[in-house]
Amino acid sequence: MISGMKILFLHGWRSVPGGVKPTYLVEHGCSVMNPKLDDEDFEAAVQTAQREFDLNRPDCVVGSSRGGAVAMNLDSRDTPLVLLCPAWKNWGTVKRLKPNSAILHSRQDEVIPFEDSEDLLVRSKLPLELLIEVGYEHRLADESSLAAMLWSCQQLVSKSSLSDDFLEVQTKQWNHHGENMQGESSYICDACGEEIVIPLDLTEGSSQKYVEDCPVCCRANIIHVSIEEDGDAQVWAEPEQDHD
Ligand SMILES: [Zn+2]
Repeated sequence: MISGMKILFLHGWRSVPGGVKPTYLVEHGCSVMNPKLDDEDFEAAVQTAQREFDLNRPDCVVGSSRGGAVAMNLDSRDTPLVLLCPAWKNWGTVKRLKPNSAILHSRQDEVIPFEDSEDLLVRSKLPLELLIEVGYEHRLADESSLAAMLWSCQQLVSKSSLSDDFLEVQTKQWNHHGENMQGESSYICDACGEEIVIPLDLTEGSSQKYVEDCPVCCRANIIHVSIEEDGDAQVWAEPEQDHD
């Protein structure tokens, strides 16, 4: 986790500042600028965003839907962009994306077709791996999408450029994540032998360890989570040692 990441969040058409996505970023330690953008005048929206950008020099710009098009039309220099189902075909003049970007989009998006994001990468001559398939509708407000948004910001801010290495891990991790929507895994409780399903939080890193009481027999287990390079999660439990 990069603490105090400064994010310029550009909301979608007729959204209001303070929605679930910027709130999620704030809850995860980011400082978020979330200006109100003009819903009618696209140029005015871009100017507002540009002013905010120049004033605050964010580490990363996140743009949602129409806000994604605003982000693409900014002079954002080498600051990374994370675009959530960007509505680039509907608004703005910029029809290409720079390399230090990521796109999150649901194939079930009912407003902006998933194919628009594929199209954007193709015409930008960028690898399709920059498109992360998450969520199940346009808003991308589910936990998995929110985590992918934060994760993408962290990755792009911490790397000066996107290495092949990063691309590979990124795709496999989130494609895997997409397969089991909630990012779940399970372990066998050592005490009672029951299989316990747990949620995975990939933003907590690739090696995690914590104590949890078995929901069946209530014995304390130390849970180890190891997320492999190929995105598979290994989870195992050992009984918590008695220190008395
Ligand atoms: Zn148990």
